Amino acid sequence: MFHRFRVGAMNATVVSDGPLILPAAPHIFKGPDAEVVNAAVVAAGQDIAHVRVEQNCLLLETGTHKILFDNGLGSEKLYGPDSGRLLASLSEAGIDPAAIDALVLTHGHSDHCWGTMSDAGTPNFPNATIYMSQEELDFWESDPPSERLERSVAGVARHLLPLRERIVFVRDGEEFLTGVQAWLTPGHTPGHMAYLFAGNWCLTGDVAFHDPLSYAFPEAHSAYDTDREQGAETRKRLLARLADERIAVIGYHHPWPGLGRVERAGGSYRFLAGPL
Ligand SMILES: [Zn+2]
Repeated sequence: MFHRFRVGAMNATVVSDGPLILPAAPHIFKGPDAEVVNAAVVAAGQDIAHVRVEQNCLLLETGTHKILFDNGLGSEKLYGPDSGRLLASLSEAGIDPAAIDALVLTHGHSDHCWGTMSDAGTPNFPNATIYMSQEELDFWESDPPSERLERSVAGVARHLLPLRERIVFVRDGEEFLTGVQAWLTPGHTPGHMAYLFAGNWCLTGDVAFHDPLSYAFPEAHSAYDTDREQGAETRKRLLARLADERIAVIGYHHPWPGLGRVERAGGSYRFLAGPL
């Protein structure tokens, strides 16, 4: 599944790695009453039994580079049977993985970088330089900070570290590829990066991962954030900027294809899905 659109003079394509099935929303969003969270889920027409999120990978063709942002879960079926479609989606879109020369990662969680290596132990994107923050790689290369993270640490070792020599670290505020700027947004993970591109676009990764709940309850603690306090602070800072500067958004886990804008709504926010 793919969706083409234009970003200024550039071609862009959202390519799907397929959906993930997660627990019910009150198990993920901590703070607001479960009834209030469920009411927002129902109002959005979503299933209250399970949270279902997409994996919207962005391919940006700048003229100089073909840049893929995040690469899904690979063949591991941690969150239901329908993930792992990225290579098929690229093929449907007529995109040769060997033509992708830049792989840009928001963070090291399974559903963002386990598609880096094939099951045969070869790179899925054989000509790509990998860009991510040093804070992020340092975190996943250190001893597991908790038992809860052991599977993630092992996954990074298996799916990303075989290509460690191809990793280039990007710093907060750095324009590391033409028109693409890193924005350090820690909390979900210690070195999580959002990326600003083409002047008024932002790829937000997992800072505000769910539409509508991350917007309606930006202060809620997320069960998926490594540091829940910092995650909420970063989310509020990011959403305020996206709304006030009218920055267009691609939401990795948002309903397909994840494009839209952020608007203030009382004391919180709302995501307005495209067209932009
Ligand atoms: Zn994610």
